[in-house]
Amino acid sequence: MAEAEAAGRQLVIAGHFGFAALVKSRERSTPLWILMLASVWLDIVFVPLFLAGIETIQLAPGRTGYGAAIIHADQTHSIVGMLVLSLILGVACRPFFGIRSAVVVALVVASHWVLDLIVHRADMPILPGNALDLPRLGFGLWQIPAASIAVELTLVLAGAWAYWRAAEDVCLHAGRGARLARGSALLVAAFGIVVLWLDASSP
Ligand SMILES: [Zn+2]
Repeated sequence: MAEAEAAGRQLVIAGHFGFAALVKSRERSTPLWILMLASVWLDIVFVPLFLAGIETIQLAPGRTGYGAAIIHADQTHSIVGMLVLSLILGVACRPFFGIRSAVVVALVVASHWVLDLIVHRADMPILPGNALDLPRLGFGLWQIPAASIAVELTLVLAGAWAYWRAAEDVCLHAGRGARLARGSALLVAAFGIVVLWLDASSP
């Protein structure tokens, strides 16, 4: 399990959770937990493939800790793989949450790939298994950890803030005090910051 934990540390998920909270503020009928799950769905599927040795992580030369990874997730993080996985989760959500939430969930799954595109070194293929040897994608913001951490923190704080505003609105309309909204937004922020701190402080 140490391997899975090491992999988790390299995936960097706080920013994805922040984005999920942002979406929740707009899509109030979709549960936050399913949005959070969708935001890291590609990484969740990555873990068993990683444990099976199908997808791997390598450290960039001379680097350890936050943002040091070159991730060979050639199935889950290929564009086609991402589209298939987002379709699967969206379709699975449809009977439980309705068509609108299913589409939102599928789009949040795809958002993971877009956010990863910003930070990953060029290690994300277009086709599964990098078939046809097409160019790999990734803008490599992880090469500047401080910048990448700043982007993640911004997403966490923006997500928690938007969530707070929306939750406050819901609470006031329901005739409940705004305290519950403030409490849950603080929880969202604290959760994101702890996850980011764990990532950023990894040896
Ligand atoms: Zn990822």
